[in-house]
Amino acid sequence: QSKDGGRDEFRFYSSNANAQALERLLLANDLRKALDHEEFYLVYQPQIDLDKGQIIGVEALLRWNHPVLGHLSPAQFIPLAEETGLILPIGRWVLLTACRQIRELQQLSGVRLRLAVNLSAKQFRDVGLVSSIRELLADIGLETDLLELEITESTLMDNIDNATRTLHSLREMGLTLAIDDFGTGYSSLSYLHHFPLQRLKVDKTFVRRLSTHPEDSAITEAIIVMAHTMGIKVVAEGIENKQELEFLVSKNCDEAQGFYFSRPLTMSQLTEKIKDNESVQAFCFFAAGDQP
Ligand code: C2E
Ligand code: MG
Ligand code: MG
Ligand code: MG
Repeated sequence: QSKDGGRDEFRFYSSNANAQALERLLLANDLRKALDHEEFYLVYQPQIDLDKGQIIGVEALLRWNHPVLGHLSPAQFIPLAEETGLILPIGRWVLLTACRQIRELQQLSGVRLRLAVNLSAKQFRDVGLVSSIRELLADIGLETDLLELEITESTLMDNIDNATRTLHSLREMGLTLAIDDFGTGYSSLSYLHHFPLQRLKVDKTFVRRLSTHPEDSAITEAIIVMAHTMGIKVVAEGIENKQELEFLVSKNCDEAQGFYFSRPLTMSQLTEKIKDNESVQAFCFFAAGDQP
């Protein structure tokens, strides 16, 4: 084993329980240092308004450039960050960095993009959340109505009373609130009206099954109708093709996000698109004649 490659090989080929426990310990240790070492960065995925055919917001998505393992996706380290409590400082870094970068983009381009940020369960339950967001937005000078927090269905359903209170405090501050990964949990639709939500994000596993599972199209359609009666807008996640888009547009879905429009972009890629008005229009998927 080479001196440098040793730990790597160990990680990739470990199979027994002890080895896996050690691997987690090593990764947790790396995670602890990652903030100080500036190994995190954010990418931004455009959200498209389906009436206007234009980008109206972006979702910030976290990435970790690990010194040995390379670029890691959130699925590879967010659960560990949750368990170790490191999600609190990491989540704070995400909020701060995303708000700062979007504010800069706004000053540079004059475009008011909505910024969506994911909150983990632990962050959502943190008693300091509301006041720390208030201070952060004031410091950065980002309008409160441009920040949207995405909270998963399972986080909200875990403790409905507390969740309702926290959501109301955030809403009073002027933020908008979205329920993420909708359809994957086991929440009853009837609970939705307890929460002051502005947007509901239909999970991509649903979108994926639209063409093959008739019952999923029926459910998706019902979700859209029901959300609209409560004054909630619907965002479809994970749109990968024209068929999915056309179905959702025909069912009056409000917004969409997915590789069909754009993969998550680095800030400099996003800036390039936004700086130039024509490129903003390039996000537009309608044929020129279809535009309102
Ligand atoms: P999410 O919030 O539901 O984010 C959407 C995920 O779907 C992203 O994965 C995005 O890259 C992916 N996606 C978008 N369009 C498509 C598509 O057309 N097809 C497919 N197959 N996938 C698509 P990503 O970036 O790997 O993030 C995964 C999850 O990690 C997120 O799911 C979110 O729950 C969590 N996450 C990401 N960033 C953060 C963060 O800053 N804080 C917290 N707490 N969680 C985060
Ligand atoms: Mg999300
Ligand atoms: Mg989601
Ligand atoms: Mg519409």
